[in-house]
Amino acid sequence: MTQHERPAGVEQVQDDPPTGIGYPFAFMDDGAKKEIRRALLKAIAIPGYQVPYGSREMPIARGWGTGGLQITLSLIVPEDILKVIDQGCDGSVNAVNIKKFVARVAGVEVTTDTAAATIIQTRHRIPEEPMTDDQLLVLQVPYPEALREVEPSEAETRRMHAEADYSRMWLYLYEDIVRYGEITISYRYPVTVNGRYITDPSPIPRWDVPKLHMADTLFLFGAGREKRIYAIPPHTSVVPLEFEDHPFRTENFSGKACARCGATDAYLDEVIDNIEGTRSFFCSDSGYCDKRREKCSR
Ligand SMILES: [Zn+2]
Repeated sequence: MTQHERPAGVEQVQDDPPTGIGYPFAFMDDGAKKEIRRALLKAIAIPGYQVPYGSREMPIARGWGTGGLQITLSLIVPEDILKVIDQGCDGSVNAVNIKKFVARVAGVEVTTDTAAATIIQTRHRIPEEPMTDDQLLVLQVPYPEALREVEPSEAETRRMHAEADYSRMWLYLYEDIVRYGEITISYRYPVTVNGRYITDPSPIPRWDVPKLHMADTLFLFGAGREKRIYAIPPHTSVVPLEFEDHPFRTENFSGKACARCGATDAYLDEVIDNIEGTRSFFCSDSGYCDKRREKCSR
């Protein structure tokens, strides 16, 4: 599309492929990006607090990562290098489609290497490789409200957050211990951020929760369907809810190793062979697994 053919209201259209498709740079108009950036600044200023925002329609359905996608699109610049993962995997359909879309509308380079990326958008995992303060991790969030399990009313959960009235959450965890002998929450494990707000870290496994604590990286959380943005800034305390006699613990993979790269220090997925009936374990983080194999084969 040439300059003369620009539709009314479109301020910035790149004329050269791959972005010359009639949209502003990175798909969203500048007003939408500004609103999201303002919400992000507020979220960073009040760690763990859920900031409402006007979630835009995206070319994918709500519930498929539109919250994360809107954050990525509002922050990305042409020099960025993007990585997108879904449950740790760079190659899953959802991750590949989001990556292709952002690359097309923003013209950025993409990678599967955690260390090489400047922005990583993710669903349900934090990469195994430690991230730096030059990198952003954007998490897709299905349910932003950590208290939803104990309170269905949005007005009431807002009051509870405002007054730091978390007694019902603690009671919920206590009842879990009474019933099952331990806290059975396997993902979306509630954490206290900066000593103030109880926050949902999104459906990452417990394995990933300690990575949020005092990290070098800025973590941004986007819930498109629920229209909420929140953040965990670098060097912020993130403490999982626990009792003295029932401390928080991560999944235990002792004695198990990745069948592909031999890793014993990664979150492992269990795969059962339907024909042989055998059981093996593989790194959930496919980029980490590939990198380790490459090193071994050198
Ligand atoms: Zn592996």
